Amino acid sequence: MSHLHPPPASCGDTLEEEFVPHVTHDPDTGLPWPAPTVPEPEFITLAQFIIEGAAEATDGCLVAPDLVCRHGHPSWLLRLGVI
Ligand SMILES: [Zn+2]
Repeated sequence: MSHLHPPPASCGDTLEEEFVPHVTHDPDTGLPWPAPTVPEPEFITLAQFIIEGAAEATDGCLVAPDLVCRHGHPSWLLRLGVI
């Protein structure tokens, strides 16, 4: 008797947030970025960064969305490959 395997149980799992792979190197220079020192912001916050034209760097500094702060930490938008 053949038996179809049921699909992997997804109901009940809290998989609402997809894992976003981090960009760990500066794509321009190829140099590694330092590890974040602040928690990863929520996606809605990232969207706000774009709207406001100012983003939080991975050490908490305020930077332009496509720039790196003076400590070498990129904006979260860069880190998460959003822009
Ligand atoms: Zn900084």
